[in-house]
Amino acid sequence: MTNLQTLRRQLVDAGRRTYERGYVASNDGNISARIDDKKIVITPTGVSKGFMKPEDMVVVSMDGKVLSNSKKPSSEVFMHIQVYKDRQDVNSVCHAHPPYATGFAVAGLALDQCVLPEVIIALGNVPLVDYGTPGTDEFYKPVVPLLPDYDAFLLANHGALTVGKDVLNAYHKMETLEHFAHITFVANQLGHVTTLSTKDVKKLTDLRPGFGIRTNVGCVTCEDEDICETPAPNTGTTNNANSDLEKQVTEITERIVKQLNLK
Ligand SMILES: [Zn+2]
Repeated sequence: MTNLQTLRRQLVDAGRRTYERGYVASNDGNISARIDDKKIVITPTGVSKGFMKPEDMVVVSMDGKVLSNSKKPSSEVFMHIQVYKDRQDVNSVCHAHPPYATGFAVAGLALDQCVLPEVIIALGNVPLVDYGTPGTDEFYKPVVPLLPDYDAFLLANHGALTVGKDVLNAYHKMETLEHFAHITFVANQLGHVTTLSTKDVKKLTDLRPGFGIRTNVGCVTCEDEDICETPAPNTGTTNNANSDLEKQVTEITERIVKQLNLK
C-alpha cells in the first residue's frame, strides 16, 4: 500500500496538472486517495488545485471525521467516501470541470458512442448523471446506482468524475475523458461522428481484462445507430459546390459578353 506522504505528493501533482490543463478554475475541483479501509486523504477546500502543498492534504475517516490538518476537507468529501465504500477496487477519485466534457454535461449529452479505441479500452462508456446541488447528498446520490458499472461520469450542469486504481490512473481517466469530449465536439462540428462496428468494438473490449479493466463498456455502435457506412468525405461536397459555382460564373460571363456584343 502506498504510504501517506507519497499519496499527499501524488495529489499535489495531480492537482497541478488538473489546474494547468484548465480542467478547473479558481479553487474548484477535488481529488482524493484511499489510505486504508478506515481513512482517505483529500484535497482541502478553498485552495487552488494548482498551488497546493503536501501538508495541505486532509486525512478523513470513512465516516467523514477530520483526523489531521487544520485545513477543512473538500465539501465533496462525502461523495468520495461513498465511492470508496461502494468500489473496493477504487483507490483514487478525481472531480473537475474540464470545459469540453462539462459542455456535454451542460448540453445533457452522455459520451456513449463507440468512437475511439483507446477510450473503449481504458475508459468505457461515460453516462450522464442527474444534477444535484454541490456539497449536499443530492450531489452524489444520483451517482450511486451507476458506480458499479462505470469509471467516468458526466455530472449534469456541473462537471466530471473519474475513479481509478491509483491517483495517476484516476487523473489519466479525466484526461482521456476530456480528450474524447474534445474530439467528439470537433467531429460534430465537421458534420458527422462515425461509430465503430460491434465486431470492432468486441475486439477492443476483449483486450480490457489484459489492462486490468472490467469488461462492461456498453457504448453505442454503428449497428445500434444504423450508420455503419462511412460518409463520403467532405472534399467531394466542396468540389461539387465549386463546380456548380464555376458553371454559374461561366453562364453569367457568357450572358454579359453576349449583351456587350449586341451593343
Ligand atoms: Zn465541482
